[in-house]
Amino acid sequence: MAKYVYDFTEGNKDLKDLLGGKGANLAEMTNLGLPVPPGFTITTEACRHYLAKGALPDGLEEEIAGHLASLESAMGKRLGQADDPLLVSVRSGAKFSMPGMMETVLNIGLNDESVHGLAKQAGGNERFAWDSYRRLIQMFGKTVLGIDGERFEHALDELKGSRQDTELSAEELQGLVETYKGIVLEQTGKDFPADPREQMRLAIQAVFDSWNAPRAVLYRRQERIPADLGTAVNVVAMVFGNCGDDSGTGVAFTRDPGSGQQGVYGDYLPNAQGEDVVAGIRNTIPLQDLERLDKKSYDELMAIMATLENHYRDLCDIEFTIERGKLWMLQTRVGKRTAAAAFRIATQLVDQGLITMDEALTRVTGDQLAQLMFPRFGTDGERRLLTKGMNASPGAAVGKAVFSSERAVELAGQGEDVILVRRETNPDDLAGMIAARGILTSRGGKTSHAAVVARGMGKTCVCGAEELEVSPAERRFTAPGGVEVREGDVISIDGTTGEVFLGEVPVVDSPVVEYFEGKFDGRQIDDELVKAVDRIMRHADSARRLGVRANADTPEDAARARRFGAEGIGLCRTEHMFLGERRQLVEDLVLASTDEERQAALDALEPLQKNDFIGIFRAMGDLPVTIRLIDPPLHEFLPDIVDLSVKVARGEASDKERRLLDAVRRLHEQNPMLGLRGVRLGLVIPGLFAMQVRAIAEAAREVPGARPEIMIPLVGAVQELEIVREEAQKILADAGVDALIGTMIEVPRAALTAGQIAEAAQFFSFGTNDLTQMTWGFSRDDVEAAFFSRYLELGVFGVSPFETLDRDGVGRLVRIAAEEGRKARPDLKLGICGEHGGDPESVHFCHDAGLDYVSCSPFRIPVARLEAGRAALAEKNDSDTR
Ligand code: ADP
Ligand code: MG
Ligand code: MG
Repeated sequence: MAKYVYDFTEGNKDLKDLLGGKGANLAEMTNLGLPVPPGFTITTEACRHYLAKGALPDGLEEEIAGHLASLESAMGKRLGQADDPLLVSVRSGAKFSMPGMMETVLNIGLNDESVHGLAKQAGGNERFAWDSYRRLIQMFGKTVLGIDGERFEHALDELKGSRQDTELSAEELQGLVETYKGIVLEQTGKDFPADPREQMRLAIQAVFDSWNAPRAVLYRRQERIPADLGTAVNVVAMVFGNCGDDSGTGVAFTRDPGSGQQGVYGDYLPNAQGEDVVAGIRNTIPLQDLERLDKKSYDELMAIMATLENHYRDLCDIEFTIERGKLWMLQTRVGKRTAAAAFRIATQLVDQGLITMDEALTRVTGDQLAQLMFPRFGTDGERRLLTKGMNASPGAAVGKAVFSSERAVELAGQGEDVILVRRETNPDDLAGMIAARGILTSRGGKTSHAAVVARGMGKTCVCGAEELEVSPAERRFTAPGGVEVREGDVISIDGTTGEVFLGEVPVVDSPVVEYFEGKFDGRQIDDELVKAVDRIMRHADSARRLGVRANADTPEDAARARRFGAEGIGLCRTEHMFLGERRQLVEDLVLASTDEERQAALDALEPLQKNDFIGIFRAMGDLPVTIRLIDPPLHEFLPDIVDLSVKVARGEASDKERRLLDAVRRLHEQNPMLGLRGVRLGLVIPGLFAMQVRAIAEAAREVPGARPEIMIPLVGAVQELEIVREEAQKILADAGVDALIGTMIEVPRAALTAGQIAEAAQFFSFGTNDLTQMTWGFSRDDVEAAFFSRYLELGVFGVSPFETLDRDGVGRLVRIAAEEGRKARPDLKLGICGEHGGDPESVHFCHDAGLDYVSCSPFRIPVARLEAGRAALAEKNDSDTR
């Protein structure tokens, strides 16, 4: 028969799936011999059954009764026993912590009789007993019976007047209990349930139900916690922090979760119960002060915190209660921390001999590193906080507030920095979002349109700043306290914290970027962080198998990429080399009506191209540089069809412009992304690719040590590649230059015929942006704004396939191509150069798929290095445990 209930002595910390985080860790502490009140855990499996079937699984009630009976005999009293009651708490606890999202009820077992028994237990402390009773009705009423909590709070406030809750007398609290019972009767039409077992049963079901409470659902969606895990329920013997001044309750961290510093961090509240300490009902005191109040408990707590750190080998946060001088542990878990603290704590723990460098590397993530690399607001000077919204997309942005997409585009066009402020954004705002430095909305969460699109663009965004009254028609918003911000007023938004400031807060480079740039000056305040990052990066580099290259098109980008640790360029685009003044030459190329005219245009372009490549080769020294021959549709280099038509219609066009209009019309495409691009263009315009290859060869001859690799885009059939390759090989041979010739794999057909293509290619580079578009059959530019937020909401995918490589679909094509390509040519080099190359999850995929390197934008290189190291470790640990 299925087992649905585990005593704390039966569980352990590795059973989080089954017992939830709270239950697993309560069991772990129990087995460590720490003072945990006895209790048991009802599994998440029971919850899943209950939620699916609408009824508790068979046998569960008997099993609970059995565990309750053992608890009662261990404690020597029965639940709610009139003269000497056992009381329990019924606490939620899912696998992943969801702070404050679900429910807990304390003091179960109290009623009009047992309240007297409780007073007797506490040496005749009537006040304490009635305080506990009123808390039970309050929590039970709100959580289990669904009564608006304000009703109870209001009654309490009325009674207190300006006094503290601790100043209420036993009689007053007894009166409050009567009032509360009245509220229950009025709101539910029934009396507050006096039967302790019924109280417990109803509370357990309420905890199960709270899994699907709207705020819990919302939280899970935002944190990407699966919706079907369910919660466990913990039934714990009560201990009391509200028995008087020798009692109290507190929370603590074993070290500072903000900085990682070791020390005593926490808050304590004397004569209080449960949530009081975080609910702000009275002022808490710093944990250090407990030493003065109760040295014995304090010392014991310090010893326990050290035990926990040593045992979990990580920062822990804890909840504890002191009942008349006796310390009890009520919760612990490995605590959340900031990105900076994650790096610092990891290396501190290595220095303390608690973990190895391998483990330190598993304790930090590429996302955390990326967070540390964003520019941030300096702390100098005055900062006037307007409000705080959700931290939807990190970064620090300063600009003039604008309230419509049109104004954003207009002002940005005049060189102004703007922040687009909207209630919420929709696809029509896209142009404004692109033009803005940052985006601020008053509605919507982390999966709102604004948030999703901003993250996709890497743009700073604060969303759901609900305190703001945004009125687009009047071009202004109002912040709390009546502060009004009108169009043109400068604001600063922090996408890492969600803060919104009035005026310009100065932005500074992150110390971690300074470090990668070799510019960090060793100032003390950031020194420990920088050293921690340095150590962990070195370790990641020594652990990784994947190479890391950069997508860089200019000598400046190339140089930065090298400073950030790139081992080559994996994608050097050549498109930009045909823009600006050189457009003229492209126009000539397109208009050429004879071979001589065309060759003249190409001859004019060649020396310019050559110089471009010389610059990049110089920046990269003897590291490989993969150059992609020209890729995008030709019309992108030509004048706009509408502008030209208007000019021609008005009779203002020159002869050349009239001929251009014909060409532009001829080249116009319905679906340019699926049109005349890449190798297709190279085959249609004779001499274009040859010119580029010659420029590469000539440049390589001038830069000793240069290692060019020539990459042909958009190949779908080996025949395309063979034609280009033959011509290129001849040019290289004539110039006496050695270069690999390979291809992008970005058309599904190329992946599916990789065995043939590898016969003609020395390397493959997966262009996963196009490969994703073509595999899914949607164009990124169109769909991200049109329906991605809806798809994410509906759970069609958990994350955009343009952000994280879709393992099942696109990933399968990559694996097929890698395998069949290597079969045909064992020394085939494999890399990826889509934006996925800098995404943590996707880097792990590339490692698993056996690629040789990932290539990504210069700023993502450290992230890719770190994650490549983590991927190698994950593989090692996997095989260790097998
Ligand atoms: P959350 O998950 O929201 O932290 P908890 O289940 O931890 O909720 O409980 C809420 C509060 O009640 C916490 O402060 C906890 O320490 C306290 N608490 C829970 N169970 C007991 C108990 N058996 N005795 C005393 N205090 C308890
Ligand atoms: Mg808790
Ligand atoms: Mg492409």
